[in-house]
This record gives sequence, C-alpha cells and structure tokens, in this order.
Amino acid sequence: MCTIGGNIGTASGGLCCVKYGVTAEYVLGLDVVLADGRLMSTGRRTAKGVAGYDLTRLFVGSEGSLGVVVRATLALKPQPPQQLVLAAEFASAAAACDAVCRIMAGGHVPSLLELMDRTTVRAVNELTRMGLPETTEALLLAAFDTPDPAADLAAVGALCEAAGATQVVPAEDAAESELLLQARRSSLVALEAVKGTTMIDDVCVPRSRLGDMLEGVERIAQKYRLTIGVCAHAGDGNTHPTVCFDAADPDEARRARESFDEIMALGLELGGTITGEHGVGVLKKEWLARELGPVGVEMQRRIKQVFDPLGILNPGKLF
Ligand SMILES: Cc1cc2nc3c(=O)[nH]c(=O)nc-3n(C[C@H](O)[C@H](O)[C@H](O)COP(=O)(O)OP(=O)(O)OC[C@H]3O[C@@H](n4cnc5c(N)ncnc54)[C@H](O)[C@@H]3O)c2cc1C
Repeated sequence: MCTIGGNIGTASGGLCCVKYGVTAEYVLGLDVVLADGRLMSTGRRTAKGVAGYDLTRLFVGSEGSLGVVVRATLALKPQPPQQLVLAAEFASAAAACDAVCRIMAGGHVPSLLELMDRTTVRAVNELTRMGLPETTEALLLAAFDTPDPAADLAAVGALCEAAGATQVVPAEDAAESELLLQARRSSLVALEAVKGTTMIDDVCVPRSRLGDMLEGVERIAQKYRLTIGVCAHAGDGNTHPTVCFDAADPDEARRARESFDEIMALGLELGGTITGEHGVGVLKKEWLARELGPVGVEMQRRIKQVFDPLGILNPGKLF
C-alpha cells in the first residue's frame, strides 16, 4: 500500500519487477511544485523523447528532496493474464540461488521469482499456520503469466531439480497459486512478529552473488546472536535481510543496528547497492556516501542546492 507520490519518491518495486520493471520505467512526465513555489512540468506523453536533461528520471527516487510531485503521467500496460506459481524446496540457500541463475540465464521470463529462507518460512508458519515445509533451507517461488504457464513452470521446475531442488510443486490453479503468494506476502509481517521489531535491509546484489549474500547474512546473524530472516526478489538480486530484535533491550538493539550495517557493507563488497527499492531516508545516510564516493556525493549535493537552496524539502534526508 502506498501513494503514487511516495511510490515515485522511492522508485518502488515489488514482486513482479523481474518481468515488468520498477516504477521508474513507467513515469513519463511529472508536474512538480518546486521549493520556491513554482510549478514545473517535466517529461512527455509520447513513447519517445530526448528534449534536454531527463528531469523526470531525476525526480523518481529523489525521496521528496527536490520538489513535490502533484501530477504524474504514467505508462500503462494491459492487465496480464492470471499467473501460475511453482514452489521449489532446496536443501541449501546456495542451491536455490544457483537455480535462480539457471532460470534467468536460460532466457525464461518469470513474472515473479522470489526466495524465502528457512527463518522466514518458519516465521510465516508460526504466524499463519500455513504448513509450509519446515525442513527446507530455502523456498523458491516462480510464476509465469505467459500463454502457456504450465509449460514454462515445467521447464523451470526441471532447472530447479538440476540445481538440486528436493521437491518441486507446481500449483494447479489460480487459487493454489494465490495461497503460495500469500506466504511470500506474509513474510515481513511474520518476521516482525518474531521479536516485535525489525530493521529491513534492502541490499541488491548482482544475481550471480546472491548465494554469497545469503551465506554472509547467516554468518552475520550468528556473529550478532540475532534472528535475521531473508526474503528476496531473487530474480532481481534484491534481498531483504530482516533483523528481528527487541527494541526494549538496549544491547539487542545495538547488535541489530551493527548487523544491519554489516549487511550493507557485505552488499557493497559483493558489487551491490545499499538499497534496491526502499531508498536512503535517514537510516542509510552514511551508507549513501560510502556507495557513491566523495565526487558522487558532491555532485548530488550540488543538484540538491539547485532545486532547494534553502534546504526546506525533506531536510536531513539522504545526505
Ligand atoms: C513493510 C514495508 C515493506 C515494503 N516493501 C516494499 C517493496 O516490496 N518494494 C518497494 O519498492 N518498497 C517497499 N517498501 C518501501 C516503499 O518504497 C515505500 O514504503 C512506499 O513506496 C512509499 O510510499 P508511501 O506512500 O508510503 O510514501 P511515504 O513513505 O510517505 O514517502 C516515501 C518518500 O517519498 C516522498 N514523497 C511522498 N510523496 C511525495 C510527493 N507527492 N512528491 C515527492 N516526494 C514524495 C517522501 O518524502 C518520502 O521521502 C516497503 C516499506 C515497508 C515499511
């Protein structure tokens, strides 16, 4: 649930981005109220257009720091057909990540390719009593909304087996598919219920490093003696390691923050980014500078200065 302004402000994504792309790819033009009160229109209504700098793209993901979006021209697509989902269980997260690479490198175009690790699966069961397989180390959900989704699922199921899946279960119909997706959608709420509070990381890594990312997060969870569940938009390499902690326990809260930071460091080490879709806000300010480097940050600050010389738009965010 979000507003169009917030969605544009954070360049949001979601489960189906692996096929359909993120918000940025759908924003053609904007009406923006600038810091000095003037109204500016950016972009186009046409399929193509390269007149001047792409200010539309600059605003998408700018977290309200450059202007206030009051109108947006969005590209629309026809509603896709009902998707059919497959669930595959793996004995290790590495095997599941290998399957993800095989599927994408094989030229398949799933409408969704999501991963839930063991911790997340157990948390979802605890909350919803869904009866997901608790012996699994990683559960992969793949979906297709193609003309023949059953054939696509069969091909992808074979790739999962080749990567070592211990069980592959294709949904038979829309209702079963929806149930599997419900499990994935419950993940963050379920992890929140573990200890009452969560810090949700949003590290996106090159798909080929997904296995290293999951392995690293497990190491970090052990080091800090914390529960960290990972659900991921695996097809995009976008992971959400979710640190579960008791906010009333100062020592645990400190360990949670340190582990959260270490996960971002790991993401950068693996050639990734500190945020795939949630944005920087306040929590990751220091990390933005680490990712962009001094020259990158300086140029971004200068852009901010041009649009908001008095610093009245979302002060304290991003930098
Ligand atoms: C539990 C949880 C799960 C999430 N899951 C996902 C996910 O799967 N994928 C994903 O991409 N994101 C996810 N997010 C983050 C998500 O990007 C944002 O929460 C959401 O898109 C922002 O929309 P909002 O309407 O809540 O905006 P807000 O949170 O109100 O604002 C978000 C940012 O946009 C700015 N903004 C708001 N309106 C405007 C406007 N009119 N003009 C300019 N700037 C504006 C705000 O200043 C702020 O910086 C999740 C967040 C939470 C808490």
